[in-house]
Amino acid sequence: MKIILIGPPGAGKGTQAAAVKSRFPVDHISTGDILRENVRAGTPLGVEAKKFMDSGSLVPDALIIEMMRERLAENPAGGFMLDGFPRTVAQAEALDELMKEMSMSLDAAILLETSDETVVKRLGGRRVCSSCGAIFHITENPTSVDGVCDVCAGPVIRRGDDREEVIRRRLSAYHKDTAPLVEYYEKSGLLRRVDANGPFDAVKSHLESAGF
Ligand code: AMP
Repeated sequence: MKIILIGPPGAGKGTQAAAVKSRFPVDHISTGDILRENVRAGTPLGVEAKKFMDSGSLVPDALIIEMMRERLAENPAGGFMLDGFPRTVAQAEALDELMKEMSMSLDAAILLETSDETVVKRLGGRRVCSSCGAIFHITENPTSVDGVCDVCAGPVIRRGDDREEVIRRRLSAYHKDTAPLVEYYEKSGLLRRVDANGPFDAVKSHLESAGF
């Protein structure tokens, strides 16, 4: 299965991807996670990307496309679920090219439909484990011990870009640059819409009903 997840920041792409992965043998590839690893490791890509990430804007297409070309080549035969890529029409076109070069095709583009209000509420309360990446929420899914990851006991923190003013900028980047992908995948017949405004279990069951 080769699918992509589209949706605004806070739509639940990362959280739902983990649930889909437990049902299907797919490689979960999150561009945000790869970028954050590069930032932590201080690679040239990380140093360049950090400037954009901190301000809530998108990292330039050329950097992202090269990064994904390398990542997809690591497991050419396997199924994958792309979380956070493509995020612009140029990236979607580059992905189509890459897939053609690798003689593969996409099965679906899942749109997690979420209102701006839901996004602001979710991201304002989101906390993440800086060791294993597990995702929590201060009221919906709190850790058992404050600040300590339930999965690996690592430190649970608020992402720097989950501050309200940055959330607003990330949302405008979504509406301007990523929302046009909806039409792009609608035209190719790959788009599947899923209501992602409700709690985790409700969204999970919508996804299951859609076959994922
Ligand atoms: P995410 O974890 O998916 O919310 O991504 C965090 C940040 O990484 C975004 O706000 C962007 O700055 C950057 N980013 C992640 N994926 C992409 C992408 N496909 N294109 C451009 N920037 C990206």
